[in-house]
Amino acid sequence: MNHFDYKNGELFCEDVAVADIAKVVGTPFYLYSKATLTRHFQAFDSGFSMIDHITCFAVKSCSNIGILSLFSGLGGGADIVSGGELYRALTAGIDPKKIIYSGVGKTEEELRYGLESGILLFNVESEQELQRLDAVAAEMKMKAPIAFRVNPDVDPKTHAYISTGLAKNKFGIPIQDALDLYIQANEMENIDVQGISCHIGSQLTLISPFVETLRKLKVFTELLVEKGIAIKYLDLGGGVGITYDDEEPPHPQEYAKAIQEELEGLQVTLILEPGRVIVGNAGIMVTKVQYTKTNHGGEKPKHFVVVDAGMNDLTRPSLYGAFHSIAVVRQKDTPLQTVDIVGPICETGDFLGKDRDFPLVEQGDLLAVESAGAYGFTMASNYNSRPRVAEVMVSGSQFQVIRARETRESLIQGEIIPQFDE
Ligand SMILES: *Cc1c(COP(=O)(O)O)cnc(C)c1O
Repeated sequence: MNHFDYKNGELFCEDVAVADIAKVVGTPFYLYSKATLTRHFQAFDSGFSMIDHITCFAVKSCSNIGILSLFSGLGGGADIVSGGELYRALTAGIDPKKIIYSGVGKTEEELRYGLESGILLFNVESEQELQRLDAVAAEMKMKAPIAFRVNPDVDPKTHAYISTGLAKNKFGIPIQDALDLYIQANEMENIDVQGISCHIGSQLTLISPFVETLRKLKVFTELLVEKGIAIKYLDLGGGVGITYDDEEPPHPQEYAKAIQEELEGLQVTLILEPGRVIVGNAGIMVTKVQYTKTNHGGEKPKHFVVVDAGMNDLTRPSLYGAFHSIAVVRQKDTPLQTVDIVGPICETGDFLGKDRDFPLVEQGDLLAVESAGAYGFTMASNYNSRPRVAEVMVSGSQFQVIRARETRESLIQGEIIPQFDE
């Protein structure tokens, strides 16, 4: 359930007409509903209210500090994967004691920054990372709190590019090798072993892979306890899917129920790292029709709608062949036509939607690309020297720009025409 609805044929975000925002802000832009963000965060978080838990929002899915600060106010923490994300989380006011640092390639500088900031846990993904963290912590005369991210070899049954929990993926430490590492870490002067973590993939539409993972983690945790290694935190990662098209993902409350049942008897604080399930359907991207054209010459005429947003603004269709539903902001009763909705970028892969049955549109019509809140703006680039678009948040009858549209000047910021000695 979200707060993007039609009233008298006009798309509204909460109580604001999307077209009214476009008049002020220009196009394209990302648009988030505060009520939806709040609702989705709470729907997820409240499912776990019976147990000790921390909901650490996956910053990489949507990292605007306006949104992070909203979640912080709702009691949320952050799951980060870079020093940049740590900076965002701290700037947004997220309690460092609710920040988890994941990722396979943390640099020395990033480890130092995490330690300095007093984050809750580093999710360590290799033996070399463990050694580096131990050394950095020693230098700083600190003890680094860690969990190992184990790879449980469970098939999440999702897109290959967003599967992370299979033995062949680069993530985590194979669960069968993890015991030796735990024993090694437990003896290290500057390492404080506190938890176990995993993340098996994204956009999961089944609960069973999560349950299978949790069972493996439980068995392993018991083994650790036998070896005298206490586990305080169990981090189950993110990954609950959403509906883009006709997927039927579990309701967050169903997911929570299954997890809590499985956790029965284990004395741990549960950590969750949801991203997509909270923000995905709380945001849309609004774009304007620039041209329509028809290419003849093939077997049948091919119709294109060229809009002002491209693969640099919303990458998912090009990158994963992902489906985003696309709708007109002002409903029309024109006949349907099968069209490709494409951007202005010089790449054949630059499309937002293919073979869509779409009402005949014309120059200047606004389109809404739905379910764009997660991995939308955060994956945007300046490719083709396109300034990144504005981000806007609506609350009730008000709206506010939460990230200004980039300018031409910002495109070349930091660039220098070199002057070498002849
Ligand atoms: C990407 C990621 C998440 C969030 O995944 P969603 O599918 O957006 O919930 C959580 N944890 C880690 C370690 C990740 O890499």
